[in-house]
Amino acid sequence: MQDILDRIERDIQPYFGMGEVANYIPELAKVNPKQFAMSVATIDGEVFSCGDHSKKFSIQSISKVFVLTMAMELLQDELWNRVGREPSGTAFNSLVQLETEQGIPRNPFINAGALVTTDAINQRFTDPYNEILNFVRGLCQNPEIKFDDEVAQSEFQNSERNTALAYFMKSFGNIHSDPIKLLDIYFHHCSIAMNTEDLAKSFLFLANAGVNPLNGEEVISKLKAKRVNSLMLTSGLYDNVGDFAYRVGLPAKSGVGGGIVGVLPGEFSVAVWSPELNLSGNSLIGTKALELFTSYTEKSIF
Ligand code: GLU
Repeated sequence: MQDILDRIERDIQPYFGMGEVANYIPELAKVNPKQFAMSVATIDGEVFSCGDHSKKFSIQSISKVFVLTMAMELLQDELWNRVGREPSGTAFNSLVQLETEQGIPRNPFINAGALVTTDAINQRFTDPYNEILNFVRGLCQNPEIKFDDEVAQSEFQNSERNTALAYFMKSFGNIHSDPIKLLDIYFHHCSIAMNTEDLAKSFLFLANAGVNPLNGEEVISKLKAKRVNSLMLTSGLYDNVGDFAYRVGLPAKSGVGGGIVGVLPGEFSVAVWSPELNLSGNSLIGTKALELFTSYTEKSIF
C-alpha cells in the first residue's frame, strides 16, 4: 500500500497548475495551490499516507456527510420529507430547482440540502457547534479538531448565495431556524480543519457498516451507512458525479477546500487533498489520485 501511495505522489506531479483554488471564499484563495496529501485508513486499524498528510485544510462540503449522519439519527424518515435523494445536475449553490420543487432541495449534499440538515441539528441542540465538533472528534478520535474561525468569517462576509438559499427555503417553511444563526453554524462546520489522516479515519464508520472500528461504537445502523454511501455515490461530487464514478468507482464526498474522501465498504476509507479545483469544484489532482488509486490497487465497488 505504501509503495502505491508513493507511486501516486510521483504520478500526479505533472498535473499541478491545471486547476484553480476556490476564490469565492477569500481565505481559501490564499492557500498555496502546490500541495498534495493522501491517506488510507483500513478497518483493521492501519493507516498509510504520503505527501503533506499532517497539514490541516478546510474540509468545506465534506462536513455535509457528518451533518447528514447526525440529521438522519435526529429526524429518521421524516428527514426525507424535507430533502430529496436525487442528483441535482446543477451547481452546488444553485437556486434554480428550489422554486419549482417547493423549497425541497434535491439532495443533502448541495448547499440547500446541507442547510436543511444543519437546521435539524440547530433545532435539536442548545449548542449545535459543539455537538458537531464533538461528533467529528469522536469519529476520528482526535480531540484537537477545531473550526477555523477565519475561514468561517471569510465565508460569512461573502455569503449572498447561501443567505438567499436559507431565506428562500424559509419562505417555503423548510427552514425553522433564524437564517443568520443557521448560516453561522453551516459556515463553521464547513470551516472544520482536518488533515487527510483525520479525514480518512473519520469516514471509517461508513466502510465498517456504521460501526467506528477505532472505538467499536455504532455511529449509525448498517442500513443507514449503506444509505449514506449510496447518496455519496449519486450526489457526492457536485454535478461531476458521473465522471467521477466512471473514473474512480467509489462513493465519495468532495469539498471546495480541495479534499475528497472515498469509501470502499468492508475495507478502507481514503482521503486525498490538493487545493486546485476542476471546473466543477472538485480537486483536480485529488480526482486523478483516486483514479490512479483504484486502478493500481484494483479495488473499487465495481
Ligand atoms: N462552504 C461552502 C459553500 O457553501 C461549501 C462549498 C463546497 O465545499 O462545496 O459555498
